[in-house]
Amino acid sequence: MCRHLAWLGEPVSVASLVLDPPSGLMVQSYAPRRQKHGLMNADGWGVGFFDGADARRWRSASPLWGDASFASVAPALRSTCVVAAVRSASVGMPIEPSASAPFSDGTWLLSHNGLVDRAVLPAARHAESTNDSALLAALIFDRGLDALGDTIAAVAADDPNARLNILAGNGSRLLATTWGDTLSVLRRHDGVVVASEPYDDDPAWDEVPDRHLVEVVDDRVHLTPLKGS
Ligand code: GLN
Repeated sequence: MCRHLAWLGEPVSVASLVLDPPSGLMVQSYAPRRQKHGLMNADGWGVGFFDGADARRWRSASPLWGDASFASVAPALRSTCVVAAVRSASVGMPIEPSASAPFSDGTWLLSHNGLVDRAVLPAARHAESTNDSALLAALIFDRGLDALGDTIAAVAADDPNARLNILAGNGSRLLATTWGDTLSVLRRHDGVVVASEPYDDDPAWDEVPDRHLVEVVDDRVHLTPLKGS
């Protein structure tokens, strides 16, 4: 189980989203507050952001708290759309940079919080690694993000124990699902944050109910119940 965060709004620095908040992903890498599975997220991290139409990524298989180079550069990385994650690898999964979210098909950046039996995932074309999250990301890219809700409901039907929280962005839109784990939304004056857990104690954070699809376009947030809920 991991923790993830996405931003859509005015240009802001990656550091202001990931490193600076009192309970941001940096702190969540060693002391998450709402994580139900796993104690900490020390098996890697990844930050993806849109630079115009280009999705750029920086991923690692090491703990986020030990990366002084990233901490030095992150204040200078500014974007209108960011997807970031810290990873707690599930038992038996590889620990390598390509197993860390965000995964990408060149158009979307996508993260998975959770666990799914790899045996129920149909073969997809271009998985970046052999961990469940990379295989699930490849399947979602194959089916298309417009089918995200249907894909999640279908995978859940085949693996009733699966936890399938997805968070994705394409530069102009964020999509997320809740299926077995926490997710919160913060509407700010300059944009919207969607995150596994609040990065501070602002009372404006709203919890997303389980088994929902979240869509963010501009400053509008839409919630739809998922099939099978
Ligand atoms: N099942 C995931 C993995 O090992 C666990 C991390 C996560 O929640 N994405 O890749």
